[in-house]
Amino acid sequence: MIVILKANLDENSPEYAQIVDYLAHKPNIKTRIHQEIGTSQKLTEIYLIGDTASLDKTEIESLPGVDRVVRVSEEYRILGRHRDDSRPSGFEYNGVKFSQENLNVFAGLCAVDTPEHVESMLKALRANGQVCTRMGAYKPRTNPYSFQGHGKDCLAWVFELAGKYGIKVIAMEITHDSQLNEIQEALHKTGHPTGVMLQIGTRNTQNFELLKIVGRQRELPVLLKRGFGITLEESLNAAEYLASAGNANIVFGLRGMKTNMGDPHRNFVDFAQVPVVKRLTRMPVCIDPSHSVGTRDASPDGLLDIFHVTAQGVIAGANMVLVDFHPAPAKALVDGPQALLLEELPYFLEDVATARAAYEKRRDLAKRFLAK
Ligand code: PEP
Ligand code: MN
Repeated sequence: MIVILKANLDENSPEYAQIVDYLAHKPNIKTRIHQEIGTSQKLTEIYLIGDTASLDKTEIESLPGVDRVVRVSEEYRILGRHRDDSRPSGFEYNGVKFSQENLNVFAGLCAVDTPEHVESMLKALRANGQVCTRMGAYKPRTNPYSFQGHGKDCLAWVFELAGKYGIKVIAMEITHDSQLNEIQEALHKTGHPTGVMLQIGTRNTQNFELLKIVGRQRELPVLLKRGFGITLEESLNAAEYLASAGNANIVFGLRGMKTNMGDPHRNFVDFAQVPVVKRLTRMPVCIDPSHSVGTRDASPDGLLDIFHVTAQGVIAGANMVLVDFHPAPAKALVDGPQALLLEELPYFLEDVATARAAYEKRRDLAKRFLAK
């Protein structure tokens, strides 16, 4: 059961004390406080754990400081959509809104290599009105002898360049909690010229200790990718780990599943689950067409498979697209074969906008039909 308090209710107020006192007198009930501090208001939710069946929802709702009470019967207590649950989806970070209603594109380098390549990428993004990107500094590689990313050595100059080109959010994977500190330190030292969305990659979806540490900080939002060999439910529970540790500013990423059933794609594309994740949780949903498809193969209609699956995810209501580009894919140190070219950026963005417009039309059509 979740007790949602009135917005901005002060912890020192008599109303707050009354709620705490009321709950303290209930047997076998433990409480856990969760706060969301937004730009305009502070929301406090009290999670009740234990024998909640014996509690009287109406009675709790009649307490002066309580806005409403949600009975949680399902999993994903914090992130889930529950009955009578009208809590909003999403969050804002560094001026960019993330929700189940809108769409952000994160085009960029799979892995940071040279300052020249990073700068060409950022220039192209600015020329196309983009304020988000992807830039991998820590790369989890299958082969220990492959390039592992520049790590902390590149952070300062990447952040400064990003700031120079008006980038507000960089999606950047971390594979160890020490890298979280390195990113925070580099952001601080450079005076926060940009923002970072921490990416938990598919190989670390169930690295629970990493999730707990990342969840304990609230400065940076998180893109959690679905594990490539586990169920959707297991991956959504991984997201709940982040939220239960304190950080609910999470985007959930679909990136394809590891099975030969998806051949010749690198992974079996799972974007049919975009609406499923939106139904089960309040998280915005990201699709990664690059790591799903893994090649630049095109169909006879001239469209690359990467474009096709992107459109499939977007027309199903995806809220974020994470996609690999590179100014010179032959020279890329990671995942060159799946990178789109800078000259393809305006074409890709227009294709995404076309699919998004079709999604919005479909959403309006459904609304009209249901209103009948
Ligand atoms: C990536 O986005 O660079 C990446 C390694 O993705 P994934 O964790 O989905 O393989
Ligand atoms: Mn990659």
